[in-house]
Parts: sequence; C-alpha cells; structure tokens
Amino acid sequence: MTGNTPQTIIGKLWDSHHILTDEGESLMYVDVALAQENTLHAFTALDKTGRKARKPRQIFAFTDHYVPTTGRAKGPAGIPDAGIRNMVIDLQDMANKFGVTLFGMAHEQQGIMHIVPPEQGIIQPGLFVIGNDSHTSTHGAFGCLAYGVGASEFAHVMATQTLWQRKPKAMRITIDGELGFGVSAKDLILALIAKIGVDGATGHAIEYAGSTIRKLGMEGRMTVCNMSIEAGGRVGLIAPDDKTYAYVEGRPYAPKGKAWEQALDGWRALASDEGATFDREVTLDAAQIAPTATWGITPEHALPIDGVVPDPSVVKDDKKRAELETALDYMALRPGMALQDIKLDRVFIGSCTNARIEDLRAAAEVAKHGKAKVTTWVVPGSMAVKRQAEAEGLDKVFTEAGFEWRDPGCSMCTAINGDYLQPGERCASTSNRNFRNRQGPGGRTHLVSPAMAAAAAIKGHLTDVREIIK
Ligand code: SF4
Repeated sequence: MTGNTPQTIIGKLWDSHHILTDEGESLMYVDVALAQENTLHAFTALDKTGRKARKPRQIFAFTDHYVPTTGRAKGPAGIPDAGIRNMVIDLQDMANKFGVTLFGMAHEQQGIMHIVPPEQGIIQPGLFVIGNDSHTSTHGAFGCLAYGVGASEFAHVMATQTLWQRKPKAMRITIDGELGFGVSAKDLILALIAKIGVDGATGHAIEYAGSTIRKLGMEGRMTVCNMSIEAGGRVGLIAPDDKTYAYVEGRPYAPKGKAWEQALDGWRALASDEGATFDREVTLDAAQIAPTATWGITPEHALPIDGVVPDPSVVKDDKKRAELETALDYMALRPGMALQDIKLDRVFIGSCTNARIEDLRAAAEVAKHGKAKVTTWVVPGSMAVKRQAEAEGLDKVFTEAGFEWRDPGCSMCTAINGDYLQPGERCASTSNRNFRNRQGPGGRTHLVSPAMAAAAAIKGHLTDVREIIK
C-alpha cells in the first residue's frame, strides 16, 4: 500500500521499476531479458554501432524457434537447411560475443524460452521480464510484469537495461469454482478468450484472481498467463503464493539462505491490496467450462467440444458475419457441423503453452487408451521435461500409442524450423495461435488441451476427452 491508497499488484510492480516519465511514457528498469534466434537483429544492430550489452548477466538466449526436433546428433552444423542452420549458429555466436548466457542447441537444459527460465529459477516474483516473443506473458504466472517486445525494443534493453513503456490499465479477471472432470487450464483460457474476445484486454494488464486460479499448479498458471496476449493483454499475471515459492525454491538461479528469506518478505507484499481498484473487472464461473476446441482462425473462435460450427447467416452484425464467413472458408467447415465430426490429418502436442511435464502426463494418460489414427507428434518443451518424461516412462506410453517422441523446441507452434503442415492439412494443436498459415502455409489449426489432443489423435477427429477417460 502506498500511503493509504490500496494498490494493485500491477501498480506495485510498475512503481518498483519506474525510473522517469516523459510525454506519457515511462522509462522502466528491466530485470531479465529473453532472446531467441529472431533476436539476432537486435544483436546485429548493437554490434554495428559498437555497443556492448549493459548487463549481460541479465540477458538469456535460447535456441528454440529454429532448432530441428529430430536428427540433432551432429549439433547445429548438422542442420540440413542452410537458412535455419545459420540462424541457430549466428545466435550462438552473438550470444558468446556479447557475453550473455546461452541455452544453445547442445545445452543439457536447452528448450523453449518460456519453459527453461522458470525451470532454472531465472523467473522469480516481482521481476520485470521482457522477451522477444509475444508469449513472454507466460512469466506473469510468478507475479512478474512480463512483456513481449520487438527486436528494436530488445536492442534498447540490451544497451541500457531499460525500456520505454506506456502504463497499461489494470484489469482483474476473477475465476471461481471447480473445474469439471476433463477440464484443464487450457480449456479455461480458451473459454475466457471466447467470452471477452481477442481484443477484450487490449490496453490492459490482467491480474487473474479467484479460487480456480489459486487451485491451479504453477504449470496451469503458466498456460493461462501465456495466452493473455491472445485476448489483447500484453501482460497477464497472478499474485505469488506458497505454490509459487515452493516452485522457485532450490532452482539454480533462485536466491539461497538469507537472501531467500529476504526475497520472500518482498514477494509476500506483492499481492493486490484489499480495496485496490481496477479499471475493468470480469468474472467467469469455472463450473460452466467444458473441454474446449477452436473451430476458426482466432483463439476467440472457441466452443465447448459438444458444440457446432456457427452459422454466419444468423449473425446480424455485418463485420462479425464477414469475419465468420472468412473463418469458415479458410477452415473448410460447414455451419452447423458438430465439432466432433471434424476429421484431422495431424496432432501436435507441444509449445510454450502446453509442453511441460504436467501437460505430457495428461496427454499420456489419454494415449494409454488407444493408438494414433493420424500422425501425432509430442515435442517436449525442454530437455529437462524430456528427461523427466522419460524417467516416468511417458515416452514409452506415447511411442506404444504410435505417437512420435521428438526433441525440444517450438516446432509446429510457429513452423519456422522445418516442422510444418502441408497446405490444407488439419491439425489439433496444444499451441496458442490458430491464425491462418501459423502452422504452415494453408495449414488449419484447432487449439485444444494436451488431453484433448491425445484424444483427437486416437480417434482421428476432434473428440470429447471425457468419453475416453471416464
Ligand atoms: S512455442 Fe510458439 S509461442 Fe512459444 S516461444 Fe515458441 S514460437 Fe513463441
């Protein structure tokens, strides 16, 4: 609380990183910056001007977007495509030149830039984290202000460890009640985006609150915060609690001994004060959420799995009707068709939204009930997730069900590493974006949870997971 005025966690984080304000923008101190291969442009820009990274120990680079997910024995030099190979090698070279910590392709902790930092304890409550990827909002799950930024903003951060930002409005989304059987954090966030729309949080930083959020583990919270950007909010966060501290404690970068106790004192003061006011409030009843799938070309085009494809002809608003017609045309679907009748060509279980160990456990639980009817890939989010899954025998469950078990990376979430759909192919995917061409030119994406993806794999069409795990 500042004086007698109750503050939101968003306000507290903002104030603790604010340096000065000029023409409505604030210069903010950045604690942690996360780079990937596309951040090469920032490294190159800085290099050309002869500048150095101001605080290289606070910058972390990841080879994830471009790395292949099979055939990695020869390391980066063995990547067959020269364009992809150069992105991976050039980032590694630049990271070494600038002295930033690199989780490169051969690193034993290699993985996706939103999965490895929490695993390593780099992400801690109260930080201002920026990353050269929209889904940096993931780290809000720890009570961080976490923004995705472009390469030029990243270069500014590298040179100054600061960033100009306009203060967002504060929005609280309160979700109470029990999630039903077969309903996960992914279903929750898809249902929320369907409710508030892809621009429902534009201009706002979201605080997720309520009993449902508190009951989620850290991995589920990361899934929810990850997709905040898909509702228009660049930031989505959750106040830290005992689950957060238990997750962070003992990880390589976490504070130790006395520093840990001091850090805890600060973290416990981060939660929004009683009586703090928000610019916007939204509520959602968790009990109303069913396993969910998208049918269209934005995450807002999501429906309960027992729903039917919408009919644009009954929509009065011209713009909305045209949007639905475009979506139906791209997705090659008929109005009124049951979602469960949508046949698939591929299934992808991976990405920074849903490739953590709990996600793979959920998918494996379903995979035990059948054999894949379509090509199905499981791409763990990091080497640590991969090792843990193998120690638990999940890889065997997947391969016995006919799923392919691959190496960590972004893979078919963004389809720039050589893993992509063929034109017209239809995929159930645990990733975060179903935009046109996202998983490859002409590819069609249906966003689902890991359990729903595994169910779709063994049926060959979108399926209600509750019919498989009764
Ligand atoms: S998995 Fe997808 S959203 Fe996540 S970091 Fe990679 S490309 Fe970005």
